[in-house]
Amino acid sequence: DARRIARAVAAKAAAGEYSEYGACTRFDELPLSKKTKDALRKAGYKEMSEIQRAAIPHALCGRDILGAAKTGSGKTLAFVIPVLEKLYRANWSRDDGVGCIIISPTNDLAGQIWDVIRKVGKHHGFSGGAIVKRTGIDEEKELINRLNIIVCTPGRLVQHFDETPNFDCSQLQILVIDEADQMLHRDFQSQVDIIISQIPKVQTLLFSATQTKSIKDLARVNLKNPEYISVHEQA
Ligand code: ADP
Ligand code: MG
Repeated sequence: DARRIARAVAAKAAAGEYSEYGACTRFDELPLSKKTKDALRKAGYKEMSEIQRAAIPHALCGRDILGAAKTGSGKTLAFVIPVLEKLYRANWSRDDGVGCIIISPTNDLAGQIWDVIRKVGKHHGFSGGAIVKRTGIDEEKELINRLNIIVCTPGRLVQHFDETPNFDCSQLQILVIDEADQMLHRDFQSQVDIIISQIPKVQTLLFSATQTKSIKDLARVNLKNPEYISVHEQA
């Protein structure tokens, strides 16, 4: 059952056995909520990709992660599943406000991430969305504190920190930075720094396509004893 598997996963993780691969290879072997498992099965996800096997058990244990795996290797589910489980385990509900922020370099990617959350999180009923330029900023100001999961670009989030006086992230549970290498190349670093300074220190998952020195520098600032996970899967 889930609790037995959770204990086994925790023990293996504590023993450092997840340095490369997790012991679990399928989603249904992970200690996930039934709501998440049902949606994964319905969506046809069975076997985990390598980055998912390596990252998800650590993330479920609450650790910070720097995960690197090339484009198309399944990084989205590697953070979407831990995000859903984090809020589920915290008994998060629509009234609890902002529980998760996911930062993405582009509005398009933010939209794609939200589509995955909607699909895999459909039984959870968390509120959320990609806040992108389509929705007007004034509309967002009214709405933003009611979103459990916010997916957005660094620029949009900084704009809310500047312009939305009652924007409340004090109860945040988990932060995700996707495509961190693009954030560096696009000079997003200063915006990411502002975001980090405005939110409480919470579990942080940072993913990128490469694990360069500058990514590790970024991680050193923002992550606490992160697991460095790098996989080179044939996608
Ligand atoms: P990345 O962010 O690493 O570029 P994505 O998360 O966008 O990769 O995933 C790429 C594609 O692989 C998507 O179409 C996604 O649905 C699919 N995918 C991800 N994980 C799995 C899996 N475990 N089994 C089957 N398909 C998967
Ligand atoms: Mg991606």
